[in-house]
Amino acid sequence: MAARDGDGWIECTCGSKHWGKNGAAGLLIIRDGAIFLQHRAPWVHNGDTWGIPGGARDSHETVIEGAIREAVEETGLNPDDLEPLHTFTDDHNGWSYSTVIARANSQLEGHELNDESREVRWVKFDDVTRLPLHPSFAKSWPLLRQCIDDLITPS
Ligand SMILES: [Zn+2]
Repeated sequence: MAARDGDGWIECTCGSKHWGKNGAAGLLIIRDGAIFLQHRAPWVHNGDTWGIPGGARDSHETVIEGAIREAVEETGLNPDDLEPLHTFTDDHNGWSYSTVIARANSQLEGHELNDESREVRWVKFDDVTRLPLHPSFAKSWPLLRQCIDDLITPS
């Protein structure tokens, strides 16, 4: 197994600290008008909030590989049940967070697997903002929602 060289904080030009020396990636899974959200344990950074699985990207990984690896580690899903559709990148001038939007087939199932994750749930697009969201995810959700609408609307 390749070394995990992405773990660590960086001081970003935006004035914040971010987790992931090579940037970070998350996986936004969609199915039947809902997204797959994870309830993060109270003791993790920005804990007791809902967000998408994800984390630090290793230098040898593509964004899609990093996002899927984190999601597998955190929720135990099977990557064969996923089809990546689009990558949305929030670029902080050097550091970036990439959200991979992927469609799940009907087989996909995730469980709360490790101790960073308390619960996973499918949440309808319109109900997402009713949950206490992770602050970074809350900020990007309106743009991601737009992206999703463009992806799934038949042209
Ligand atoms: Zn930043």
